[in-house]
Amino acid sequence: MARLVLKFGGTSVADIQRIERAAEKIAREYKAGHEIAVVVSAMSGVTNKLVGYCDEITSMYDAREYDTVVSSGEQVTAGLMAIALQKRGIPARSWLGWQLPIICDDIHGKSRILDIPTDEIEKRFKGEEVLVLAGFQGVTEKNRIATLGRGGSDTSAVALAAALKAERCDIYTDVDGIYTTDPRVVPEARRISQISYDEMLELASLGAKVLQNRSVEMAMKNNVSLQVLSSFNDEIGSDLPGTLVTKEENIMEKPVVSGIAFSTKEAKISILNVPDEPGVAAKIFEPISNANIIVDMIVQDVSSKGNVTGITFVVPKEDAKKAEQVLSGLEILKDAEVRVNQDVAKISVVGIGMRTHAGVAEKMFRTLAAKGINIGVIAATEIKISVLIAQDYSELAVRALHDAYNLEQAEV
Ligand code: ADP
Ligand code: ASP
Ligand code: MG
Repeated sequence: MARLVLKFGGTSVADIQRIERAAEKIAREYKAGHEIAVVVSAMSGVTNKLVGYCDEITSMYDAREYDTVVSSGEQVTAGLMAIALQKRGIPARSWLGWQLPIICDDIHGKSRILDIPTDEIEKRFKGEEVLVLAGFQGVTEKNRIATLGRGGSDTSAVALAAALKAERCDIYTDVDGIYTTDPRVVPEARRISQISYDEMLELASLGAKVLQNRSVEMAMKNNVSLQVLSSFNDEIGSDLPGTLVTKEENIMEKPVVSGIAFSTKEAKISILNVPDEPGVAAKIFEPISNANIIVDMIVQDVSSKGNVTGITFVVPKEDAKKAEQVLSGLEILKDAEVRVNQDVAKISVVGIGMRTHAGVAEKMFRTLAAKGINIGVIAATEIKISVLIAQDYSELAVRALHDAYNLEQAEV
């Protein structure tokens, strides 16, 4: 007998037929004698619709009320899934974030889980009950509903698996595992059988939405064994048909490049004519950070005239306006010019083998150059290289790089 957390994403619960199909899989795991907690997303499209309702009234909505609205999608699927399980003779009960509770901080819209008390769950497991938790939501210490950021049901599932010390957390979705890049963009993408937490965290943070990056971070910290698998075929998680996200030491094959991620969700901000003097970077980035804006890929030019320089960095598109406002109010930039470019894409190659192999960056630059693609900004860590290019070239770049690193070739 094992303790399992099974998460079903939006497309896996998109209609009643799919909910019943998911319930069948849960029933098979339950009948094999496992203790089961299920986490569900809203039916696909529902969260976008709910976000749209808020936007229709105003783009300046109160984040607490946004959370009240957008958390409602998961309530529907939790109840429906419990009904589908009960129909199969399984004692199941739905739980909302405030009921369990999933305690989280009050950064509404991007809240983080702080604690999940497990006494009630343990009691229910003893009574052989299946728990069905509404994903994506928790309750703050001020007793308000908060949501965990888009894609946050993955994090609900991993947090629950960590709290319950589950043997495995199975993320059922619309693809049968993690691929070398998004298989919807590159049909030649290859399924990976195992991937390290570090690589998956980079891929997820750099745009691969198959797992929310916070869920990978949490799995890594708590050593949760994570499997990504399809909800559309006949296999169940215990057959281990999907991709396992695990510790680096468990992985036999350490490819130089494991995957390619891309994102068009960022904007490039360039500041020209910045005074080249000590403390200027702090004066720019402190107010940006105080405004809760996450910055990436910072580059400072070599000062050509001696007393002024240029600084370029990347922020999420939705924060670009706010960043521009913050910068326009800074005394230090009174003679500077701020330019925002929304038309960019970030392309990243990721692999733990890069630590010990040279030439990965050179191949990336050469491949992009051969396609006539200009590189705006470059950033690297020991296991990833990211470049910023014009958004129109993003698919071409991903396909060319996938080919250049031979990622379509089968694992050996
Ligand atoms: P869910 O609704 O189940 O949470 P998501 O849409 O959030 O599913 O994530 C699954 C999608 O992630 C896939 O349909 C696929 O298009 C996309 N994706 C992006 N990068 C990858 C990758 N490297 N491997 C697999 N899927 C990826
Ligand atoms: N329903 C939420 C979203 O669409 C959470 C999730 O599906 O993970 O972002
Ligand atoms: Mg998702």
